[in-house]
Amino acid sequence: MKYYREGQLLRYIGTWIPLAVLVLIVLYFYVVYMETYLMPLIKSEYVSRPLVEINTYLIQLVHINDYVFSNQTIGITITLHIILILFTITLIRVVMTIPGHVPVEWLNKIEDEIRQMIENEENMINHNKKGSQTSTSFSSEIDDEQRLHLNVKVKNEIIDKQGRRHCKNCSAFKPKRCHHCRQCKTCWLKMDHHCQWLNNCIGHGNYKLFINLLGYAWFLISFIMITYSRCYYDTMNSYSSDAKLFLVSFTFLYCCFLWVILTAFTLFHLWAIKSNITTLEYCENKPREPLQKGVWNNIFEVFGKNPLVWFLPIQPDTKPILD
Ligand SMILES: [Zn+2]
Ligand SMILES: [Zn+2]
Repeated sequence: MKYYREGQLLRYIGTWIPLAVLVLIVLYFYVVYMETYLMPLIKSEYVSRPLVEINTYLIQLVHINDYVFSNQTIGITITLHIILILFTITLIRVVMTIPGHVPVEWLNKIEDEIRQMIENEENMINHNKKGSQTSTSFSSEIDDEQRLHLNVKVKNEIIDKQGRRHCKNCSAFKPKRCHHCRQCKTCWLKMDHHCQWLNNCIGHGNYKLFINLLGYAWFLISFIMITYSRCYYDTMNSYSSDAKLFLVSFTFLYCCFLWVILTAFTLFHLWAIKSNITTLEYCENKPREPLQKGVWNNIFEVFGKNPLVWFLPIQPDTKPILD
């Protein structure tokens, strides 16, 4: 409704198109893999049983237990679907998880600091106006214009001398490693990048889920590429129709292409975790304060300290580093 009012409905729908394309790519691979490889494999093993034994549902079950299907086929089917389920859960979680707002307590702390500094400045002015008389009252001697001027002066002092960072768009202070995202129109803690494919920012609150997603995607594409190479080889060396030849070749080569891109992307993020650097910081390429705390501490900062959840689509409750 909000988007209707602002006339931005089309733009809003447009932001979801890359995610829809991503889902369609996954669906494409799944359907082609099942139709051209796994289902024919299952069917070929299924019909090889004596006809009399597939007459009733009960006998079919017995024969599944009797390993009518080869271990390899059962292994491929189960592995494929486990990775696919984990990938889907993680995809939904990354898209739905807020990347991390600046904590209200932190903003209040800065506001208190500013208020205290303004009070001190006002006291100083009052003191100077009244000569040697010390005053603790700062309301009567300061007019609104002076107070506004003081406010700006104190904020500039905090930015210049204390090195605090301020977001002009949000008109608020932000902790280090916090960045403003123009698409989300918000400042996010330890923002890594805005992912168009997921229509969400990746930051402190969902970076671990994003890495899980990359991991599952890499395993999925590697698994499909390795197992599908058999189908590709068989199709190439058999009298298949032109359509099937094209479909299988295109799918396999597209899979190899995605594997190269995904491997490079995953390796970059593993290096970034090890080095404690975000994609934005890497792209800014400017001298940074030392963030190295040792490889294991860098890993714990992203994945948490419980290795049991490292490979599951669970975001650990790690505290953001604000100062
Ligand atoms: Zn901002
Ligand atoms: Zn964003």
